[in-house]
Amino acid sequence: MDFTIPAELTQLLAELDAFIEREIKPLEEQHPEYFDYRREYARTDFEHGGLPRPEWEALLAEARRRADAAGFYRYALPRRLGGRDGTNLGMALIREHLAAKGLGLHNDLQTESSIVGNFPTLLILDRYGTPAQQALIPAMLAGEASVAFGLTEPNHGSDASWLETTAWRDGDDWVIRGRKRFNSGMHRATHDLVFARTAGTAGKAEGITAFLVPRETPGLEVPFYWWTFNMPTDHAEVILNDVRVPKDAVVGEEGRGLELARFFVHENRIRQAASGVGAAQYCIQESVAYARQRVTFGKPLAERQAIQWPLAELQTECELVRTLVYKTAWLLDQQDHLAVSALVSMCNYRANLLACNAADRAMQVHGGLGYTRAKPFEHIYRHHRRYRITEGSEEIQLRNIAGHLFGFIGGQRG
Ligand SMILES: Cc1cc2nc3c(=O)[nH]c(=O)nc-3n(C[C@H](O)[C@H](O)[C@H](O)COP(=O)(O)OP(=O)(O)OC[C@H]3O[C@@H](n4cnc5c(N)ncnc54)[C@H](O)[C@@H]3O)c2cc1C
Repeated sequence: MDFTIPAELTQLLAELDAFIEREIKPLEEQHPEYFDYRREYARTDFEHGGLPRPEWEALLAEARRRADAAGFYRYALPRRLGGRDGTNLGMALIREHLAAKGLGLHNDLQTESSIVGNFPTLLILDRYGTPAQQALIPAMLAGEASVAFGLTEPNHGSDASWLETTAWRDGDDWVIRGRKRFNSGMHRATHDLVFARTAGTAGKAEGITAFLVPRETPGLEVPFYWWTFNMPTDHAEVILNDVRVPKDAVVGEEGRGLELARFFVHENRIRQAASGVGAAQYCIQESVAYARQRVTFGKPLAERQAIQWPLAELQTECELVRTLVYKTAWLLDQQDHLAVSALVSMCNYRANLLACNAADRAMQVHGGLGYTRAKPFEHIYRHHRRYRITEGSEEIQLRNIAGHLFGFIGGQRG
């Protein structure tokens, strides 16, 4: 077994570092308010639903544009889409590396915007879409179109196969009726990927169909956005009031929509796990550095075992999870994502928890300063706390692992 990181990936990380210093840091330095203690206030339009301020989103878009021009943004995409045929292992290393640098425009936590993109809905269209649906992809890459993901509902989240939104045929059209919750990104989406039951019974994965619904379709309404632990929000409540779409709005096979949802969460789960490892490493490193220079009772904090041991425990967990993330990402490059579903769940479960624990410990080691917004730990904590619920909660990751262990797998998000 050879654990050496491939030379081309080490080289890529060095190129990314140079690019960040050259093109991203100067942009960031022009707008310190988005990254220092004012970050939440500066980013959020509190008077308009708590949505991201347009200027903030424009800055993120500029960072992505520069990264695209430099050849980094599409790393994970196939060459025919302008990408570099990047691997899952490569993406894991990149996401870990970027998160380990701390807060910044290179890898914004709250908006999940990065100079090396993650494109789950784009890849769904590429893999399952019709040629007409795939025609949206260039506009998505140019930032002119975006597709939100509408699976969760008021009465069903983890148990997606129980969803209550229904769709029925009327001539050549489908008519969709229901309600979606936490439908992220609807404020700038041109389309929503809406999951609705078209056949079968509640609790069965079969019979749920995915529809690509243009945002401006009559009957599709966004009454409000949910304000969340980390602001701004873009997590919409969506009402589908007899929304009519043509039959070619179906994405993938009719009745097999949850396959798309599974593909979506697997793309996200491993990337989140890698980011969690990087964020945890950042929190540990910052804590070690602070403990070395902060003196209490006449000695540096670093000399106290009460400070050393929790950080040593975290570093141990970090190494364990990092190794599992690399192995799982590598396996994802060899096999279909469904074959490594349980490992992906293990990575996601432990890495999200690790990031939260490390941010919490960093706050403790930094004392009162750790609790302020002068330090980034509260932001890191609030962001990664989200992943312990979304993309399949901790309990759903464990349920998926148990499902493989005991030989049952239900129609859940696993
Ligand atoms: C910031 C944010 C962004 C989101 N973005 C999107 C999005 O873009 N699109 C989208 O479709 N959804 C999105 N979601 C929704 C998210 O996927 C769901 O919140 C998540 O799947 C959990 O569903 P729920 O909230 O209905 O909780 P529930 O399913 O009601 O679960 C409540 C609690 O019970 C636990 N639980 C559930 N079932 C079991 C069980 N069988 N055994 C043990 N424990 C169980 C859960 O783990 C959880 O802790 C987002 C959510 C948030 C907070």
